Amino acid sequence: MDISVIVPLFNEDESLAELYAWIKRVMQENKFTYEVIFVDDGSTDRSWQVIEELQKENAEVKGIKFRRNYGKSPALYCGFEKAKGDVVITMDADLQDSPDEIPELRRMIVEDGYDLVSGWKMNRSQGDPLSKTIPTKLFNATARAVSGVKNLHDFNCGLKAYRRDVVKNIEVYGEMHRYIPYLAKNAGFSKIGEKKVHHQARKHGKSKFMGWNRFVNGYLDLLSLWFLDSFGLKPMHVFGFIGTLMFMIGFIAAAVVGGNKLYCLAAGVPARLVTDSPYFYLALTMMILGTQLFVAGFLGELISRNSQERNNYKIEKEL
Ligand code: UDP
Ligand code: MG
Repeated sequence: MDISVIVPLFNEDESLAELYAWIKRVMQENKFTYEVIFVDDGSTDRSWQVIEELQKENAEVKGIKFRRNYGKSPALYCGFEKAKGDVVITMDADLQDSPDEIPELRRMIVEDGYDLVSGWKMNRSQGDPLSKTIPTKLFNATARAVSGVKNLHDFNCGLKAYRRDVVKNIEVYGEMHRYIPYLAKNAGFSKIGEKKVHHQARKHGKSKFMGWNRFVNGYLDLLSLWFLDSFGLKPMHVFGFIGTLMFMIGFIAAAVVGGNKLYCLAAGVPARLVTDSPYFYLALTMMILGTQLFVAGFLGELISRNSQERNNYKIEKEL
């Protein structure tokens, strides 16, 4: 099978039939063999009925229905598990992404050898308010800097294409769908490209991600990913190092304070109280915090030693 299209959706019944007809037309024009996996993320409208009706007439339609709303990332995760195509395309259900982009996205994977091609939403200014575009710019700049995937302008675009290996080797959870290129890079897929894509204003319904908390959550997710990537496998290297360093500084400070006191006593000069010296407080905090960091690193090691992930290396080839 050439292509699997995965469509996560939450209350999008008005768009589904039109979206499927459009995908089908593009696939037939290009003579691709394909499947379209609709993942219904706990919709409360008629979305699932629409999918069932489409399925009756088209063997290419597959569906997964969640019992409740889990979020876009879990929906993508289940779609990825099920996908059989050589190239996997993800696409939003709201008709903002155009299926006409599919052939070129596929060509970039198959012929140009990209592991992942991310869409870059053009002409979106008419559709989105300023309160959304400015934070989006900021978000993308941070994501670029932290992830080290320097050539992407638009991490959050729902329209992306993947080589099948990629989706089988990454685990999207929580709200990590915004950082799939970063996940892919961490799993060892480094050829990540970008294609400018057309982007329409939403035809039906409202955006499912509203307000500022998406950006707060987005940054926290990025932070956790960066943490996992940098020292998830070796927590002791970081915490142990900083902890030891702090403890040593504290220890030296304590030695200075204590040495000074002893010297004064021995020489018979009037010595000031140990607690009057700033070094005393430095010694106190540094030694306590240093020990705590060290213990944190050690606990991290114990946890990662027990985790099922610990020897989960991504093997590309074996002879
Ligand atoms: N979506 C989903 N589960 C959710 C929220 C959204 O599956 O909990 C789907 C939604 O139906 C759409 C896609 O994710 O197909 C992108 O959502 P939306 O268009 O609301 O996001 P925006 O375009 O505003 O970033
Ligand atoms: Mg949308």
